Amino acid sequence: MFQMEVTAMNRSHLLYRLQTIDLEISNGKRRQEEVEAGLGESEELRQARRALQKAADELNRWRTTLRDLELEAKSLTAKITSVEERLYGGRVTNPKELANLQNEVSYLKRRRNELEDRQLEAMVKVEEHEAEVDSKKASLAQIEAEWTQTQKRLAEERSELEERLAHLKKERVEVEGMIGAEDLALYRELCSRKGGQAVALLKGGVCQACRVTLPTSQVQQARSGNSLSFCSSCQRILYAER
Ligand SMILES: [Zn+2]
Repeated sequence: MFQMEVTAMNRSHLLYRLQTIDLEISNGKRRQEEVEAGLGESEELRQARRALQKAADELNRWRTTLRDLELEAKSLTAKITSVEERLYGGRVTNPKELANLQNEVSYLKRRRNELEDRQLEAMVKVEEHEAEVDSKKASLAQIEAEWTQTQKRLAEERSELEERLAHLKKERVEVEGMIGAEDLALYRELCSRKGGQAVALLKGGVCQACRVTLPTSQVQQARSGNSLSFCSSCQRILYAER
């Protein structure tokens, strides 16, 4: 009688151990996939790089605009100087010609004023975009630093998981070897029907898988261990902790 009791207890205990190992393996594999997905360039990092590139392109565009405007202003100033030299040089005396030169100078100066306004605007834009580039650089640097940290942590976790899973698989083979063929078949069948969990821990009269409080008679039966007992609510094999 005592021998039978021990045997049944061992049966549910071994199945429970197998279940614990299988659940940890399946959680470990899920985490492994998450870790693999997290390794490598992140979307956040790519986005930060693109944002910096965009800001830098925009800054270059405004710098080019400013340079072009400066060149244009320079050539306009040279032109004004040369027209003014003719106007005030004393060699041109014809009033109509002088009036024409005067008009040309006025026109060129108006254009230069316009140009100066645009130059000023471009300078402001260059400054704004310089600040923008600086801020994007700082934000990229921060994201890169965090990313590097995360990558390091994930790489460590990956090797820890590999080690842990290898250990669990070895342990699983050992435990499985101690379980009878019939119990194993039952375990597999229940696993496939019950979302990967065939065995439930019975604790304080409550099935820890479905959270239902079981009748006292059932709890006693599970504890007595004369045969495998099942949760009346979720039908999983019960394992009562000693
Ligand atoms: Zn249950």
